[in-house]
Amino acid sequence: MLILVVNSGSSSLKYQVRDTDTHEILTKGLIDRIGESEVPDHRAALLRLSEEVGQALQGKKIEAVGHRVVHGGERFSQPVLVDNEITRAIERLSPLAPLHNPASAMGIRAVAERYPGIPQVAVFDTAFHRTLPPRAWRYAIPTPLYRRYGIRRYGFHGTSCGYVSELAADFLGIPLEEFDAVVAHLGNGASVTALQGGRSIDTSMGFTPLAGLVMGTRSGDIDPSILVFLAREGYSADDIDSLLNRESGLLALSGNTDMREITSAAEAGDQQAELALEISAYRLAKYIGGYHVAVGGARAIIFTAGIGENDAAFRARVVALLGALDVRIDEAANSVRSNEVRRISTADSAIEVLVVPTDEEEAIAEATAETVLAAGRE
Ligand code: ADP
Repeated sequence: MLILVVNSGSSSLKYQVRDTDTHEILTKGLIDRIGESEVPDHRAALLRLSEEVGQALQGKKIEAVGHRVVHGGERFSQPVLVDNEITRAIERLSPLAPLHNPASAMGIRAVAERYPGIPQVAVFDTAFHRTLPPRAWRYAIPTPLYRRYGIRRYGFHGTSCGYVSELAADFLGIPLEEFDAVVAHLGNGASVTALQGGRSIDTSMGFTPLAGLVMGTRSGDIDPSILVFLAREGYSADDIDSLLNRESGLLALSGNTDMREITSAAEAGDQQAELALEISAYRLAKYIGGYHVAVGGARAIIFTAGIGENDAAFRARVVALLGALDVRIDEAANSVRSNEVRRISTADSAIEVLVVPTDEEEAIAEATAETVLAAGRE
C-alpha cells in the first residue's frame, strides 16, 4: 500500500510517502513556518504537501494516511481508524500535550479536506505503554489528581520501542512473547523502556516527555520540590516550563545539544562537556540496572535513535558502568558503522547488547496499512 505518513507539529509538518510492500520511501519533505504569511495554517500546509506529493508520485495514488499522534491518553492502546469522534478525542487530550495534539487534529482535518474519503489512521506515541501495570504508572499522590487531571505515567516513544523490540527479538531468535529486554531510545528526546514478554512494563518518561533521562534540552528527573522552590522565588509556570524543557539537559550542562560536538569538546579537554556525558551515561546506566530488575533479568539491552545508533563512544561509556551485570562490550563490533541490526557485546557478556536502527515512519506506515486492511475485513 502507498501510505502518506504525517507528523504534524504546531509550526511544521513532516511527511513521507512509503510503500509498505517494498519498504521504499517514495518521497518526503518538511513544510515549516506554519503560521507565517506564506503558510498561514495547517490547511495551507496540506495544500502545499499535496502539490509536492502529487508531483513526486506522478499519478500514483496514496491509499491511506497515517498520523503520528503524541498523546493517546488512557483510551488508545493501538492505532485506530480516524473519524470525527476520534479527532475530537485527540483534541480533548490536548491538556496533556498542548503543543502536539491540537496540531495532530488540525493535520487530520486538513487531510480530510484535501483527500476526501481517504482512510486515516492515528498512531499514538503512548499506546505501546498502555500495558504498564499500576505499580509503574501510578504516582504516590492523592487519587483525585489522577481522576480529575489524569496525572499518571503515560510514557512516550512507544512506536519506536515496539518497532525495535520486534526487530531485536527476531535478530536473537527469541519469540516476542518471551522477550525480556531494556530499550534505550536516545535521540533529542530520550527514554528507557522495560520490556517483559515483548510488552512495556515500565518506562522513564512520565506524565509528559520531561521525566527520566538527561536529554538535549530537557532536565529529566529532578526533585519536584525544585519547582516549588522556583515558584516561591517568583518563577512563573511558563518560566519553569521553558527552563526544564528548553534550557536544561545537555544544553545547560555543556552549552551544546549535539552529542558529536559535546564529545569532541570533551576529548579536547572541556570539563563541562565531560561532566555532561558522565551525568547522562550514569543516569541511563542506573535506569538500565533498575529495569533489568523490573523485567526479572533482561536478555538484551537495545540502543536506538540518533545517539543510540551512531554514538559508539557514548554506548561504550554506558556499558562500562554496567560491570555489576556482567555486561561486556566488544570494542571492534561497537565501532562498526552500519544501518543494520547488530550485536555489540562480547560472546561472554551476560546480556546481549544490540544496536537496532529505528524507523518511526516505517512503523507508522505499517500500522496504518494493517489497520486499514483489518477494518476492510470487518
Ligand atoms: P529526534 O528524532 O529525537 O529529534 P534523533 O533520533 O535524530 O532525534 O537524534 C538526534 C541526536 O542524535 C542528536 O543529539 C545528535 O547529536 C545525535 N547524533 C546523530 N548522529 C550522531 C553521530 N554520528 N554521533 C553522535 N551523535 C549523533
